[in-house]
Amino acid sequence: MKANYLTHDSIWSIPFKDYHSESLKSTITVRDAILCQAQSVGAATHLLHSWTLNGKFSIAKAYHWFRQAKPILVWAPALHHQFIIPSHRVLTTLALQPKLATLDNLTRKGIYIVNRCILCKSSLETYDHLFSTCSFTQKIWHGIHTWLALTDRSVNPVAELHWCTTRKRSRHWKNGWLKSSIAATSYQIWHERNSRIFQGLEHTEAQLLHLIRVNVCTRILHRVPSAVYEQAIQRLNFS
Ligand SMILES: [Zn+2]
Repeated sequence: MKANYLTHDSIWSIPFKDYHSESLKSTITVRDAILCQAQSVGAATHLLHSWTLNGKFSIAKAYHWFRQAKPILVWAPALHHQFIIPSHRVLTTLALQPKLATLDNLTRKGIYIVNRCILCKSSLETYDHLFSTCSFTQKIWHGIHTWLALTDRSVNPVAELHWCTTRKRSRHWKNGWLKSSIAATSYQIWHERNSRIFQGLEHTEAQLLHLIRVNVCTRILHRVPSAVYEQAIQRLNFS
């Protein structure tokens, strides 16, 4: 690494590049995680020196530090409801951390491309914009909230899932309906974004709303207890 990559930069300043070797990219990723917590190179160096035992580097100490640094995803349990389609669960888990390759994430990794939201065509594409504040996205969330008869709701999927986990009747089928809708909406927003970028195919808000409703209803009606099946049919207004 010193001979090939660190002739002009130190490990604390070298930027992340896609053409770097996998080992260097992994090292830079770990470096960024340490710097993010330590806030400065001096503090990070001090931290590294603290991961020693009898003068030798201690993997156990470093491992313990990284385990503590990992954020607790308070909303994650809400995504384990049986009404959520597995592919929607996976995508939503990645989207909400956020780990998807949104344009701002790609720019941070050194991939320089024009950053413009493909859905509203007027703002930068960031995680918050794509899944919460985009005018296109907000119309879909509004349609979902109307369907669920929820008023004055935020359009932040993380806050929504967190809210689901705090409800007293979190095991009620209607709570699962909301969780399933949040995951399906996040999935369709990402799918629509990719469809527009990579295939040039556009769908309207109404078409996406219909697709979300069909997916959610199909899943729920296959899994809802028979005692509340008729109630679910009427409440979902699915035909
Ligand atoms: Zn937008």
